[in-house]
Amino acid sequence: MSGKRPPHHRDGGFQNNYGDFEPKTLGQVLRWRWQAGRQGLPRPPREPIPTTAPDLGFVHANRGAAQQPAVTWVGHATVLAQLGGLSLLTDPIFSERASPLGFIGPRRAQPPGLALHELPPIDLVLVSHNHYDHLDLASVRALARQPGGGPLFVVPLGLRAWCRRQGLERVVELDWWQGHQLDTAHGPLEVVLVPAQHWSARGLTDRLKTLWGGFAVFAPDCHLFFAGDTGYSRDFSDIRARFAERQQARHGGGFDIALLPIGAYEPRWFMADQHVNVEEALKIHADVGAKASLGVHWGSFELTDEPLDEPPRQLAAQRAALGLAPEQFFTLAIGETRRLPPRG
Ligand code: ZN
Ligand code: ZN
Repeated sequence: MSGKRPPHHRDGGFQNNYGDFEPKTLGQVLRWRWQAGRQGLPRPPREPIPTTAPDLGFVHANRGAAQQPAVTWVGHATVLAQLGGLSLLTDPIFSERASPLGFIGPRRAQPPGLALHELPPIDLVLVSHNHYDHLDLASVRALARQPGGGPLFVVPLGLRAWCRRQGLERVVELDWWQGHQLDTAHGPLEVVLVPAQHWSARGLTDRLKTLWGGFAVFAPDCHLFFAGDTGYSRDFSDIRARFAERQQARHGGGFDIALLPIGAYEPRWFMADQHVNVEEALKIHADVGAKASLGVHWGSFELTDEPLDEPPRQLAAQRAALGLAPEQFFTLAIGETRRLPPRG
């Protein structure tokens, strides 16, 4: 019976494609927390996290046939991406804490770049996995109640039942490499769930029971890659290979924009198999063939031992050492929009 199932499926849950991921033991978690506490980590940021007032006029007008592809950083892994005439959100979190409880857990260092009520109508929400900093109950519930009807939520395998229990009605669940197609003002758009090296859990008894992943979004005017949370693995060259033919059909190949995590990487002995550091994010940028990448998953929640403002400094230094131009792998201020050239 198990002979035909995909290698990332296992009894009662899922596993990563490549070898070196081990779920952490309680002992390892305690050792990390104890060492961080003893060393006073994370140290406070040297500078404020850059924020800017959003261009609400642009993001609200930017839809339908006249739309220009654009990404707006809301904060953490939440990005408003406008492509294919639609507005989509990745891993929406607008809440004060990334936690099951409102009064404990990592607190936001600054408000989201756009408040929920400032968003344009959202057509599509991509949820990479069920960790609290990526799947926030209050945020998805609020989006489901937006005026004019809720967006379509695209989630990894095992999460549709959870979404339904929370009252979300329009939910599509995908396995790795499965796609869902939508018709847009610009033509057909396809969302494909792709592998990532990570894990899932919302409580103590559901570890690895629902799937995690990243997304490839193929709109006629923009190919977007969103990595979700991930360690570094061969999954990214697999993704490039899998889509090479489709992407070479139009000019230039590769993804027009990649949303890649650059924060939550220290200490490496604990984080390396589940969160990339900046050096590895730069490797993913190359592996997936991104023409441009936006560094996300930093600046809003203090989850790990590096200072909240360290990832972009590391990125600037390492990008220069590799001879990349700033616009090839950039960061934005929270609330800032970057317009992208439409795919040719
Ligand atoms: Zn995660
Ligand atoms: Zn995360």
